[in-house]
Amino acid sequence: MAEHERQHVRVAVIGSGFGGLGAAVRLRREGITDFVVLERADSVGGTWRDNTYPGCACDVPSHLYSFSFAANPAWPRSFSGQPHIRAYLEHVTDTFGLRPHLRLNSEVQQMRWDEERLHWEITTAGGDWTADVVVSATGPLADPRIPEIPGLDSFPGKVFHSSRWDHDADLRGKRVAVIGTGASAIQIVPGIQPEAGRVTLFQRTPPWVLPRFDRPVSAAERRLHTLLPATAALRRGILWGIRELQVSNFTKRPERMRFVEKLALAHMRKAVADPALRARLTPDYRIGCKRILLSSDYYPALARPNVDLVASELAEVRGRTLVAADGTEAEADVLVFGTGFRVTDMPIGERVTGAGGVTLAEAWKDGMAALRGTSAAGFPNFLTVIGPNTALGNSSMILIIESQLNYLADFMRQLNTLGGKAALDARPSAVNAWNRHIQRRMERTVWNTGCRSWYLDANGRNTTVWPGTTAEFRKVTREVNLSEYQVLRPPRTPRTAVPAAAGTGAAR
Ligand code: NAP
Repeated sequence: MAEHERQHVRVAVIGSGFGGLGAAVRLRREGITDFVVLERADSVGGTWRDNTYPGCACDVPSHLYSFSFAANPAWPRSFSGQPHIRAYLEHVTDTFGLRPHLRLNSEVQQMRWDEERLHWEITTAGGDWTADVVVSATGPLADPRIPEIPGLDSFPGKVFHSSRWDHDADLRGKRVAVIGTGASAIQIVPGIQPEAGRVTLFQRTPPWVLPRFDRPVSAAERRLHTLLPATAALRRGILWGIRELQVSNFTKRPERMRFVEKLALAHMRKAVADPALRARLTPDYRIGCKRILLSSDYYPALARPNVDLVASELAEVRGRTLVAADGTEAEADVLVFGTGFRVTDMPIGERVTGAGGVTLAEAWKDGMAALRGTSAAGFPNFLTVIGPNTALGNSSMILIIESQLNYLADFMRQLNTLGGKAALDARPSAVNAWNRHIQRRMERTVWNTGCRSWYLDANGRNTTVWPGTTAEFRKVTREVNLSEYQVLRPPRTPRTAVPAAAGTGAAR
């Protein structure tokens, strides 16, 4: 498309989940209104819009799984269901005046850094843009991963992924196969068990499951939180503090988690009377290396007579017959994949071309890496929300997102202070130093020592989890350290990188 047909904005935010909407609120609070939020779907909500499977809910308590700047005293349950979280994000969109910034049905198809003009050229399904700064908030749980199963095409019934639930599929009396035993599948099984004729669950690895103490938030509590917002803040603070105290068990002393394993086993014993089934459900790895699942209805559902557990991965499909790796066969009418997302090979990486014509996917082919989880070298003025090594094993991702928004706000301030046309590109040396530090800390953690999981990439490197407390992450993202960046100027002045401290007067 010709240049004159592109509209220019100061900032383009990609995605309208928690990350994208949070970025939009933060930009407005910084006095920046010249921005758009590009969203591929026709409404906001990100993963909480896409995931509508039966039983979909959050396993982080409601009062912690929400923005600190948009407390909701009216959460109806201690753990929110998907409809409430989605409604909350719609509410945030309205409350903070974000609608005018939204560009729905605008999936980013290509994005290219223009080294002459120091801006991003963005081609979307709904129009084309240029932007000085891009905030990529596409999220790691956006694109489904469906394993390549030989013969899958021969399955005559409906096949869908947990995050693309087919609500036209009538499961009443049907034989439904669920593949996977992650956070999604363990909610789906109890969600569909009452109406399905038979549920067959293919389990490659048994998860550790603890009870989820979900309950309605009483009217009195809600009134209290409305009248005295400090009580909601206190509740949030307690939920946060408990999780902060747990972190060292994950990062330094995984062996201390043995007693949590005992609690999980007791939880299973309470619901599953059959010792043979219990044996197949018992994990043989340290708790915590995969996400610890919270559910009080998963084990009871597995104990129901219309549920079968195949303790082996799905290896082949022959028409209606599903064949597990151990040779077990099961017939099914509907096939549901709860097999997770493309986390370490996000498809957006192939669409983003940075300096020198290198795509983000190419830059990250040996492993994702970004300065303070946010800035990848060679991708100037490009900030990733929930970037490499920012995911949490035990707390609310909203805390991480808000810290990254602090970083974004300072990034914008620094750019303004530089004056004129300028861009910030993370120095490879700074990215490498940051990454080495993260990887060194990662060595002892339960995520690296406990088991293989989606936290590890194809090379076995943990490029997803933050190996510390959320308070620590907040600290390291409080401000942009300009010495970690190259300041780029348009080529008329010297095109090459100018050391940050030289001449700009803006270095800290
Ligand atoms: P996931 O955690 O990646 O789980 C995928 C599951 O599929 C794993 O159990 C995996 O087994 C299994 N699998 C893959 N290929 C298989 C095969 N051929 N046969 C049998 N099993 C196979 O995905 P998810 O459950 O969608 O959860 C992803 C993330 O979403 C979670 O970690 C969490 O962060 C988020 N989530 C959160 C909530 C919440 O309550 N907040 C709810 C749902 C999801 P292995 O374990 O052997 O790899």
